[in-house]
Amino acid sequence: MERRAASAYRERFGEDPELVASAPGRLNLIGEHTDYNGGFVLPCAIDRRVAAAVGRSGNELYSANFEETKPLAGEREGSWADYPRGVLWALRAAGHEIPDFRAAFAGDVPLGSGLSSSAAIEAATALALDALFELGTGRKDLARLCQRAENEFVGVNSGIMDQYASLLCEAGTALLVDCRTLEAEPVPLELESAGLALLVCDTRLKRGLAKTGYNDRRTACERAAAALGVAELRDAAEEDLRRLSGEERRRARHVISENARVLDAAAALRAGDFAEFGRLMYASHRSLRDDYEVSTPELDAFVECARESEAPGARLTGAGFGGCAIALVESSRAEELERTVRNSFRDSGFREPAFYRFLPAAGAEVVR
Ligand code: ADP
Ligand code: MG
Repeated sequence: MERRAASAYRERFGEDPELVASAPGRLNLIGEHTDYNGGFVLPCAIDRRVAAAVGRSGNELYSANFEETKPLAGEREGSWADYPRGVLWALRAAGHEIPDFRAAFAGDVPLGSGLSSSAAIEAATALALDALFELGTGRKDLARLCQRAENEFVGVNSGIMDQYASLLCEAGTALLVDCRTLEAEPVPLELESAGLALLVCDTRLKRGLAKTGYNDRRTACERAAAALGVAELRDAAEEDLRRLSGEERRRARHVISENARVLDAAAALRAGDFAEFGRLMYASHRSLRDDYEVSTPELDAFVECARESEAPGARLTGAGFGGCAIALVESSRAEELERTVRNSFRDSGFREPAFYRFLPAAGAEVVR
């Protein structure tokens, strides 16, 4: 991708870029709907990236994926240019004096599949500009600037996980993120040497109720926290559940148990115990399906196929209501699971899914 971005820059602008930076997409391994409750998430970077080739002359943006050139200056317009423009806006808003520049992008993170190509293009842009203009900004600060770009310029209300994963992950590790304190800690995830891989199943369905469902879950969590007298459900414990009932109780049970599972999952990985890690993934899925009620028949079918083929773990990933599920699989059996899932989906009349296989990859980096 770095080479593709550099050659796109040369073809489009007729000179070499000064430097290239690239940043990966991400997968959340466990910890769903915990971020807005002040809890924990455990994402890893994937081996698909967006690269940004940059130089100090000119003032244009080019995407090889969209085969389109846009002016650097501009307001939000609902196009891909919003992401790099948003990052420039956030850097300038933070007090950095950044002159005009030009950039060419090339990426192989699937767009709009929940693998966070948006954070990848933001992080690649931010790191490239940080290096080009020698800003000396730390990775965590760059991540927060990228989040601000996405929240306030692009207009998508997302947490810090995607940008943290893209900028802070290291190869062969996952990243345990405390969404309250914004502390982050690498956790070993040496899948390749264990003969394991991550299989993603994109159901290519986004249910209409995704937005209202998400907002309903958030307000139920707020009600539960208020009823318990805590700031966020992060501060509640299992025994508190007795004091709740109905919807609030089920939603809170998911959040409280999920936070515990993330910490247990990190401990399992540190101990190299993939069997335990996988069990926690299945438990996470059950909780998301039964207590949080954000799964779909397609996501459930994928997880069921994974269980029947004895994959160590599987769960829906992302907010639910469609989107993706992941399985931790023995690499040698990933293809077989794909086939089984394809057949099962066809028999059930579901839309044909897309599959991706990933290994935990390095975070953003600058290539001179
Ligand atoms: P996701 O983050 O799940 O991939 P989003 O809708 O949040 O989905 O972000 C996808 C958008 O990010 C794309 O539609 C495009 O605007 C932008 N984007 C990602 N990669 C590139 C790229 N290589 N070139 C230009 N824009 C990109
Ligand atoms: Mg996104």
